[in-house]
Amino acid sequence: MVDIRFGPAGRPINYSGSAKDACSYIKAEGLEAYEYQATYGVKISETSASQLKKNSEDEDVLVSMHAPYYINLSSNKEDVVKRSIQRLIQSAKASEWMGAYRTVFHPGFYTSYTSEEAMKRCKDAINQILDELDILGVKDFIFAPETTGKKSQLGNLNEIIEICRSFDHFEPTVDFAHVYARSGGKINSREDYGQILQKLENELGIKSLHSHFTHIEYTYAGERKHHILLDDNYGPPLRPFIEEIVECGWNITVICESPLIDQDALVMKKIYEKILADRNKRI
Ligand SMILES: [Zn+2]
Repeated sequence: MVDIRFGPAGRPINYSGSAKDACSYIKAEGLEAYEYQATYGVKISETSASQLKKNSEDEDVLVSMHAPYYINLSSNKEDVVKRSIQRLIQSAKASEWMGAYRTVFHPGFYTSYTSEEAMKRCKDAINQILDELDILGVKDFIFAPETTGKKSQLGNLNEIIEICRSFDHFEPTVDFAHVYARSGGKINSREDYGQILQKLENELGIKSLHSHFTHIEYTYAGERKHHILLDDNYGPPLRPFIEEIVECGWNITVICESPLIDQDALVMKKIYEKILADRNKRI
C-alpha cells in the first residue's frame, strides 16, 4: 500500500490551541501530516515536543519540522555560517524530541560565490553539523534540504540532489512551486512532474518523497508570492500533479504552503480521492 499524505505548513488557520495538540485537530479535519514551523527560531521545549510526538502517534499524523528561515550555510560571513550551524543543530535536536521524520531547511544563498564555491561552503558546514550532532548523541533526524524558489539561493534540484547524495541523514524536499518559479514556469503537465520523480529515483534511488505545494507568482528572479489553489492565474498546475501522485506508486507527503494551508491541503486531498476512485473504477 502506498502512503499518500496531505497536511498544512504550520498550525491550521482556525486552530488556536498549542502545537502539541495540533495533530488531533489536523486528523479531525481529515488530514494526515503536519509541518511544525520553527520559522523564527527553535523555541519548543523538550516536554512540549514529546507531547507533540505522542499526540502525532496516537492520531497517525506524520510530523516534519521546518527549520528557521534565516539559515545560510554558504554565506561569505563566518558568523552567519556559525549561527546557521547552531540553528540546524537545535532543529535536529527538537526534531528528535518531536519525532519529526524530516527537518526541512533552505541551504543558503550564493552571495559572492559561484555555485561550486557555495556548494563547497555548504558541505563544509554540513560536515561540522553532523560531527557536532554525533558528539551530542543526537541520532534520530533526517535533514531534508528544500529546492529553493529564488535564483539567488543555493538549492536548485541538481544541487539538492548533490547535497543528499553526499551525506548520510539527508533526503530531499521538493517544493514544486519553487522548481516552477525558478524555471520560469516550466511545469505544465503530468509528464513534467513525472520527470522530476524519475530524476530523483535515478540519482538517489528513492521512491518516497517529502514535498511542498502551492500556487506561486514569480518574476525573473524567481518566487514572489504564494497564492491559493483555487486561483488558476498561477501555477504550477494542481490536477496533473495529483494525477502523477495517483499513478507513480511513490509514498508522498504533500505539505500545503498556500495562504490557506490546511483548507487547501483538503482541496488537494479531495481531488486525490476523486482521481483515485475514477482510476479504480477503470481497472
Ligand atoms: Zn516550501
